[in-house]
Amino acid sequence: MTAITVLGSANMDLVAYVPKAPRLGETVTGREFRTVPGGKGANQAVAAARLGARVAMIGAVGADAFGVRLRSALTAAGVDTCGLRTVEGASGTAHITVDDEGGNSIIVIPGANGLVTGLESGDEERIAASGTLLLQLEVPLSAVAAAARAARAHGVRTVLTPAPVQPLPPDLPDAVDLLVPNEHEAAALTGLTDPRQAAAALLERFPEVVVTLGAAGALHAARGQEPYTVPAPRVRAVDTTAAGDTFAGALAVALGEGRPMREAMAWAAAAAALSVQRPGAQDAMPGRADADAAFAGGPQP
Ligand code: AMP
Repeated sequence: MTAITVLGSANMDLVAYVPKAPRLGETVTGREFRTVPGGKGANQAVAAARLGARVAMIGAVGADAFGVRLRSALTAAGVDTCGLRTVEGASGTAHITVDDEGGNSIIVIPGANGLVTGLESGDEERIAASGTLLLQLEVPLSAVAAAARAARAHGVRTVLTPAPVQPLPPDLPDAVDLLVPNEHEAAALTGLTDPRQAAAALLERFPEVVVTLGAAGALHAARGQEPYTVPAPRVRAVDTTAAGDTFAGALAVALGEGRPMREAMAWAAAAAALSVQRPGAQDAMPGRADADAAFAGGPQP
């Protein structure tokens, strides 16, 4: 069983479904309200755990009812939450409005996630005991950088999803083995809208890059190699929330199991394609047997 540590965010998503989003100063009546566990860190942790990895999460939730639920959602998925601290104040929340066209607008209030500023007691050991560290950018960069440095010191592979996209500290890329942006993040980091050109530019800072391309699959680029694209299975998508987190979690699992990159990408694409066919984020993430079956029945790498 491959071991993965995730350092990142846990948010409660507060989702309002409305016919049309309100303009400034306007009040509208919505159809439905749901609270669902999310946050990129927790999503990637759940994705990897469902797919059969031993996963430990480092992060923070608030001392409130959301914090209790966020922790229990992780525990229910089999994630070790000993590194998930309960801190004073509110848990992170994402206030999401989804309209009838499927368009959304989101306010994220970091809450407890904003207090994850570095590694705490036991975290370095957690990272050292795993084969892969998964990082995103929803907790302060100081913690992301400290975790990446610890992983590098212990020979642990680091996979970074640069979301929400922001300027990266100059020394962070040196400690990252694999960058997994989506095409918008790749464009924002480089100023280049063509994913191949953006990937090539990112290789000046990162040794290996996988740019996810939505329904078009994912593009691999590494120094000294020809770039290639792995297609996504053709499916009817009903909700692409957390498709990228499912892909990143699955990719880490497959690479941790020693599978070659092209096959790992195809397996991650099969898992992500399952997630887009179901509504929700963590709820939509597939288990191991479903991902293996979809991979076996899908386009071969
Ligand atoms: P994205 O973050 O939109 O680039 O999506 C991440 C990954 O999820 C992609 O690389 C695909 O493997 C998968 N994915 C996203 N949208 C779809 C879709 N409509 N159909 C199939 N797979 C998808």
